[in-house]
Amino acid sequence: MPLQILSMPATFRQIQREQWLPRQRIDELQWLRFRKILFHAYNNTEFYKKRFDTAGIHPRDIQAPADLAHIPITAREDLRNPLPLLAHGVDRKKLYSSTTSGSTGRRTTTYFDQKCWLRGKFLLKLRARLACGLKPWDRTAIFSEGATNQRGILRILSRCRTFSIHNPLKTQIRELTQFNPSALYGFPSTLQLFAGQRNIPPVPKIFTSSEMLEAGTRQKIETGLNGEVFDIFGCSELKEISWECPAKQGYHINSDWLLVESLESAQANGDGKAPGRLVVTSLSNYAMPLIRYELGDTGRLLQKQCNCGRGLQLMTPALGRSVDYFTLPDGMAVSPYAMTCAIENIEGMAQYQIRQTAMNHVIVSLVPTPDYRDENSAAIRSSLKEVLPGVTIEVNKVATLKQEKNGKFRIVASELNTNPPIASPDE
Ligand SMILES: [Zn+2]
Repeated sequence: MPLQILSMPATFRQIQREQWLPRQRIDELQWLRFRKILFHAYNNTEFYKKRFDTAGIHPRDIQAPADLAHIPITAREDLRNPLPLLAHGVDRKKLYSSTTSGSTGRRTTTYFDQKCWLRGKFLLKLRARLACGLKPWDRTAIFSEGATNQRGILRILSRCRTFSIHNPLKTQIRELTQFNPSALYGFPSTLQLFAGQRNIPPVPKIFTSSEMLEAGTRQKIETGLNGEVFDIFGCSELKEISWECPAKQGYHINSDWLLVESLESAQANGDGKAPGRLVVTSLSNYAMPLIRYELGDTGRLLQKQCNCGRGLQLMTPALGRSVDYFTLPDGMAVSPYAMTCAIENIEGMAQYQIRQTAMNHVIVSLVPTPDYRDENSAAIRSSLKEVLPGVTIEVNKVATLKQEKNGKFRIVASELNTNPPIASPDE
């Protein structure tokens, strides 16, 4: 285990170099790595052996990117039981794992070997942040679903502090002001709230992720926090997929370690076409290979070269999910993630949506799974009551969930046009 940590500087130098390789060279590297993990997945996991055999394909049939379409898609549902996806002989106790946040409406767990974890969780992120001008010694505040203390290396590398978005807004504002960071990570919905408060210290570098970042929200955050926003696109199954560099020409895919396909736009030949369904292969997770994993988001792959000179391919994600804060009758703002965390472990839901129709009324619409029981609805009501005091909670079973007119799906949606309460740190 320590060997992996000791090799981190060399691995980091390698990925730093790779981003500047010409696009064609990165594509070649990517293809070599793809073929290697494809054979590994077939030879070492029960899941892909069976899946490829059923589809009548063998990894040796996949000779060029044009053959990718023959490989079956791996869906999020396939991860409900991740064990058949684990490579033979791996010791699950020695693996790292990540469970999806509630923002997708479905819960999955992905396992990573240590090498993949260190690369995806730290080194690729560090490369992207350095590209945006973040210095390792910058004070960095992360506002996330869990204040999961700072484990080792990230804290050392970037003087990070993690704060929970489940704390009252006033507490979060106080923490932000006291810590006075030069960089900030958070969900657009949270940072938008910060931006609307008085006496907020300026934060030069702001990193957003996990939700659709609308142009208006970006502007609000940049103005309110007096800094520049760099959006990041990723998911817990694959970690960071792509990120904005200062040239803002799109999002650079970590294409040396991920193979991203956009299904419709691949056929339609790239730029100018409608966003396609995004399908991603991890080129480094040998413990739990994910081959052509469908994210549930759409996006476009761009063929242009970025002005910054990096050879990493550009894309524009179009996230299909966004969330709202709820404002309660007493003026308290409740984070959408407090609600998704409260109910995401409850069985019986294939998908759900939480909608606030009045200050004191919330409707949960759920698409039931075959094993749904009435107890599940009762559990949803009682769990949500804890985070939404004084609110009536109605739970309805539905066949499908409605998308909004623009095709987006809002997992936590408020129909009220309320602004969060002003809470300055000195109140
Ligand atoms: Zn760039």
